[in-house]
Amino acid sequence: MDASSVENDLVDILFTEEQILEKLDEMARRIEADYEGQELLVVGVLRGAIMVMADLSRALTRHVETDWMAVSSYGSGTKSSGVVRILKDLDTDISGKHVLVVDEIIDTGLTLSWLISNLTSRGPASVEIATLLRKPEALAMPVTPKYVGWDIPNEFVVGYGLDYQERYRNLRCIGTLAPHVYS
Ligand code: 5GP
Ligand code: MG
Ligand code: MG
Repeated sequence: MDASSVENDLVDILFTEEQILEKLDEMARRIEADYEGQELLVVGVLRGAIMVMADLSRALTRHVETDWMAVSSYGSGTKSSGVVRILKDLDTDISGKHVLVVDEIIDTGLTLSWLISNLTSRGPASVEIATLLRKPEALAMPVTPKYVGWDIPNEFVVGYGLDYQERYRNLRCIGTLAPHVYS
């Protein structure tokens, strides 16, 4: 690999593609059991959740509806701006529906706590969260995901949908960036 290869920017790989797919498969089995006999709308939170949505939804062997929302809480850096805005709303009316929000990471929980109260006000039958990663030490809002892949330390990670300045989303693994990337 040459110096411009994406993986050369990582100092540490936290989760390989294989580990991620295995984890999403476990989560899918639990989701299938919990929602048995119920209709389910799976909502991906753009853009970070694209990979998780693609692989988690395909790990499900049952029928689901899918939809997307885009919200923004971060600028282009690594810190939350504290402001949440809807950039793209759902195309689906969720009243009376069981909704599962799929996200890739819960950091402060600011984005999802805002999103959950927003969705709850639309009268769904239920709203739950599935997230691949969670940083328990960073949590500042009361967000309780029903499905969590892994708890991770409070450090900035990239890959598998997670970006740094819109790069690294296309990594198959999840890892931490080398210091030279930030300088
Ligand atoms: P929260 O509102 O929970 O603080 O953060 C929500 C969003 O911030 C996530 O969906 C993700 O887009 C971004 N974010 C939080 N932590 C990380 C991280 O460690 N790496 C990357 N790339 N994005 C993060
Ligand atoms: Mg996200
Ligand atoms: Mg981002």
